[in-house]
Amino acid sequence: MAKVTFFSGQQLPLEMHKVRIIQKLNLLPIEERRRAISEAGYNTFLLNNSDVFLDMLTDSGVNAMSDQQQAAMLIADDAYAGSATYTRLYNKLVEIFGMTYFLPAHQGRAAEHILSRSLVKPGTYVPMNYHFTTSKAHVTAMGGEVLELITPAGLEVTSTNRFKGNFDVAALERLIADKGADAIAYVRVEAGTNLIGGQPLSLANFRQTTEVCHKHGILAVLDASLLADNLHFIKTAEPGCEDLSIPEITKAIADCFDIIYFSARKLGFGRGGGICIRDESLYRQMRGLVPMFEGFLTYGGMSVREMEAITVGLDETMDEDMINQGPQFIEHMVSELDARGIPVITPAGGLGAHLDAKRFLPHIPQPHYPAGALASALYIASGVRGMERGTLSEQRDADGVEPLANMELVRLALPRRVFTLSQVNYAIDRIAWLFSHRDLIGGLQFVEEPEILRFFYGRLEPIGDWVDQLVARFRDELGESL
Ligand SMILES: *Cc1c(COP(=O)(O)O)cnc(C)c1O
Repeated sequence: MAKVTFFSGQQLPLEMHKVRIIQKLNLLPIEERRRAISEAGYNTFLLNNSDVFLDMLTDSGVNAMSDQQQAAMLIADDAYAGSATYTRLYNKLVEIFGMTYFLPAHQGRAAEHILSRSLVKPGTYVPMNYHFTTSKAHVTAMGGEVLELITPAGLEVTSTNRFKGNFDVAALERLIADKGADAIAYVRVEAGTNLIGGQPLSLANFRQTTEVCHKHGILAVLDASLLADNLHFIKTAEPGCEDLSIPEITKAIADCFDIIYFSARKLGFGRGGGICIRDESLYRQMRGLVPMFEGFLTYGGMSVREMEAITVGLDETMDEDMINQGPQFIEHMVSELDARGIPVITPAGGLGAHLDAKRFLPHIPQPHYPAGALASALYIASGVRGMERGTLSEQRDADGVEPLANMELVRLALPRRVFTLSQVNYAIDRIAWLFSHRDLIGGLQFVEEPEILRFFYGRLEPIGDWVDQLVARFRDELGESL
């Protein structure tokens, strides 16, 4: 539904659903929050969820299910081979994407594993608009190289460009002319570009990018994990698309690609994943890996209950009222933060609000992980758990050099249909308090640094005594007796 106009003149998002099951939350006193983050090695991934008030870590596997999804889970057909549940999921995917073949996988990165194992040879390139952590890890593990060809607007922190996720088509043409089409394993296009703030691509850009691929006989692969938000933005902001329905936009995008893979922890409000494939020979090439790493071809490591939920969730994704709650809440959060002068990525994307730690904490150098420090400080000040998306989330190069990230972000994901507006307003209030005391926040250093995907379980400590000062100031000013 288009935005409702309020008589009061306020601009507020309005949920087109009601809450019928609740989960009680726990807001620890600040001293306890301080203990919890210290025990977690100043890594929000290592916090216990029972110590978290609002979990804005991710939108992965934590979106609220609908009554229809829960109901469908009760009729799941538990068979190792040939379950009716698989057939329902398969038929739904064919209906929305129009591709004949499907390989199930237990989540998005498992689909990436199968894809890169089948298609990436050592020395080949995988150009993409922007990398995602697990996508890059799987390509490099197979000896391939990721090249990011995002349009310059994508890396501008503040912008009015609605389609910051767009692929730089001219750069792709130059790359093909330079390396030759044979050196390119496939081109990966990521809808709703995750690591630059959930920024969408336009339908026109999906078309132009994949036309170049097809002209040179290069496989075009869509990572559709964050497609739902991208569909909303095309429908509401791309000239010429306002009269297309969500299923029509979905089909128009799908028609551009040879392969579509997704994490159903995001797309479909469930837990699972898979790969849709147009061409039979490609399907046969990849098929053997599914029983080897995931499970038989009719479940691929997913529970049948989740498969039923995903089938209904995919159907709900085709309903604008079901997919606009996330982007509209995020827009509210971003515009309220922006109005207070707090540095935040604009325009608001899907997925969540993204604080710009480089401008929030200009006194902290990148090797001291400003985004990691801000995520820790925010947890201490609020019990809100966000995720570092900056230098900490990068991997050291083969020679041990630490690449500095293009952006230092703290992502505050808004899992779909989960939070209320007052909870979002609480988070905004605490971020505003932190911003007014930003000078108190200092950096972090590693105590324990794993080699691969270090952000997941690395442990850090604060540099200096800034945490003590922050806690003391909070006690003074906001008390919060619990
Ligand atoms: C989450 C995500 C993945 C990985 O999916 P998982 O289900 O978490 O393994 C891949 N690509 C994008 C764009 C994602 O957001």
